[in-house]
Amino acid sequence: MTHEAGQLVKDAQKLFLVAHVDPDGDTIGSTLALAYALRGMGKQCTVACSDPVPGILSFLPGVEEFGTPQVTDHDLIITVDLSDPGRLGPAYGHVLAIGLPVLNIDHHVTNTGFGTANLVRSDAAATAEIIFDLLGAWNVTLDQLLATYLLTGIVTDTRSFSTSNTTPRTLEISSELVAAGASLIDINEHYYKRKGAETLRLWGQMLSQMQLDGRLVWSVNTLEMRQECHTNSDNGDGIVNLLVTVREAQAAIVFKETQGDTVEISIRSRPGVDISPIAVHFGGGGHPQAAGAMVSGSLEQVIPSVLSKTREVLDSDDLGRRVES
Ligand code: 5GP
Ligand code: MN
Repeated sequence: MTHEAGQLVKDAQKLFLVAHVDPDGDTIGSTLALAYALRGMGKQCTVACSDPVPGILSFLPGVEEFGTPQVTDHDLIITVDLSDPGRLGPAYGHVLAIGLPVLNIDHHVTNTGFGTANLVRSDAAATAEIIFDLLGAWNVTLDQLLATYLLTGIVTDTRSFSTSNTTPRTLEISSELVAAGASLIDINEHYYKRKGAETLRLWGQMLSQMQLDGRLVWSVNTLEMRQECHTNSDNGDGIVNLLVTVREAQAAIVFKETQGDTVEISIRSRPGVDISPIAVHFGGGGHPQAAGAMVSGSLEQVIPSVLSKTREVLDSDDLGRRVES
């Protein structure tokens, strides 16, 4: 797979790199790392994302480059950390139909293999791990900036090395990145410890609406709450990660109301509990411990249907474990 990807990149001169909608540290860090390395190899790169990069990632040099430029005289499209074409977002929903070769680089177990070439490894904790290996195969020397981009992807996708997809290889790669000058402390400080006061006010409202029902904890993020708190999002490291720390919880869900008749769901679980089938059932995707989807309907319609599916998945997960033991 690396060879096929290498060939596509070698044959291209002007590359169009797309990060996923609602971008996170992995898609942004991995895209910036790839663009930086490719430029060092004499290639021209455009970086794009349907949505603005959240302020929580503004510590990464180069984030200001992301926008919604058009594909023009490019000769290769690279999608970075996208599980399926829906993740291209409204600005880039059309790019697969242009007819250019597409290199799909990703680590989601739910990846649909939509590229001309698919460098998809679900054993990788972050797409940044795959980029690390790719750059190694291309003999790219790591410098501090490149290492920072890649370590940001790993730290943010593993919730600081705490999710079950963190492997010995994840730690080995991270160790090399730290040795190359990336600061684990700075990345953690920027990503997890510098929230706006308005974000915490919104969290307060969401916490006051929190519901615990057996092993399931959930809350809502409504348009009205965001208006009251003067913020548009609950920012990168979302409150769903806090909800799943409730002692009794096996799974946590946040239902985010949007302007259209759609609810964004964010799901998290304890290690060993796979909630990705819930997201897939509703047309989304993700990882065993972190998944999401955009579900059509109002909060009143979406909440009961998602809760019911989640209970079903949690019950079948129990059954699976009883059979195993
Ligand atoms: P979050 O809850 O942080 O938005 O997303 C958690 C994980 O689920 C991420 O890996 C993200 O890629 C995936 N995810 C979130 N929303 C969607 C969606 O609408 N579609 C797909 N395919 N994956 C999603
Ligand atoms: Mn990722």
